[in-house]
Amino acid sequence: MSRVYNFSAGPAVLPEEVLREAAEEMMDYKGSGMSVMEMSHRSKVYDNIIKEAESDLRGLMNIPDNYKVLFLQGGASQQFAMIPMNLMKNKKAAYIVTGQWAKKAFQEAKLFGEAVKVASSEDETFSYIPDCSNLEIPEDADYVYICENNTIYGTKYKTLPNTKGHTLVADVSSCFLSEPVDVSKYGIIYGGVQKNIGPAGVVIVIIREDLITEDTLPGTPTMLKYKTHADADSLYNTPPAYGIYICGKVFQWIKKMGGLEVMKQRNEEKAKILYDFLDQSKMFHGTVRKEDRSLMNVPFVTGDKELDAKFVKEAEAAGFVNLKGHRTVGGMRASIYNAMPKEGVEKLVAFMKKFEEEN
Ligand SMILES: *Cc1c(COP(=O)(O)O)cnc(C)c1O
Repeated sequence: MSRVYNFSAGPAVLPEEVLREAAEEMMDYKGSGMSVMEMSHRSKVYDNIIKEAESDLRGLMNIPDNYKVLFLQGGASQQFAMIPMNLMKNKKAAYIVTGQWAKKAFQEAKLFGEAVKVASSEDETFSYIPDCSNLEIPEDADYVYICENNTIYGTKYKTLPNTKGHTLVADVSSCFLSEPVDVSKYGIIYGGVQKNIGPAGVVIVIIREDLITEDTLPGTPTMLKYKTHADADSLYNTPPAYGIYICGKVFQWIKKMGGLEVMKQRNEEKAKILYDFLDQSKMFHGTVRKEDRSLMNVPFVTGDKELDAKFVKEAEAAGFVNLKGHRTVGGMRASIYNAMPKEGVEKLVAFMKKFEEEN
């Protein structure tokens, strides 16, 4: 068996321990005589799996009792519609557009009401987070929407926007469980798990209970009401059962590693290795304003497209894969999620040094 260092932005690297455990349990999960993939989501065995996953997540994130944890499907992208359908009581919401994903959410919200773009960093290819300390937020906006870590551009909010009392809704797909958060500051925190937590197919929505109501926009399908899933503890219909099981293993792995404080320290150390190198390199440069840099997604360029392509190709041959940047930024992007070992980043930097010397 040989594993590569996988710098994919998502689906992304998972802890080896988790994959090994899942392999061991593949044919016979804890004496049940079957794989988790094969069992009823209404069985006692599966009930334990999903309950334990929720309880571990609650512990890790210190989720207050007045928040529900929902395990849903449809990708993060489905939330772009589900959020306005459930929350836009006044048919108005404020959006801060800091990248492609925030922009997509903003555009989707326009299908349901008045989505107001209250700030944007599109003028400089989303390479920074705008000042959100005193935005003009419409009085009757139902919520303020952000994408907290911008997967494609590699920026992250270091302070949350001043929402002036409005409910904050955040897409945290690419920074989920990368550091501690104060859940009580948000109305909804949600994310697709395929970046930092598990296999594609699961979306976790952490939602304050008062936002879960029958009062959704007319025509909202049953499956797209938070209330449907909250009332049924995420078992209204067949959930993405195997994916949730893997998420649960990742929660346990994080617990064993020491929790989110430790994750944060590890992630800061890893990111520093890469950013410190970029800051002194004559060949490679980061593309993002320093104070807004993400700990998870690190885009960089040489400034020469052919050299970028050569780097990506040679890196791949050396076992560092998925380093090609997003098509809208070009260059390279190293996603260094929780499960990327420090050694992977150190070796990547050593490879970059060598490449710089030789080219
Ligand atoms: C990947 C990503 C999405 C889209 O996720 P899907 O599950 O493919 O819909 C949305 N937001 C962010 C921040 C992402 O990184």
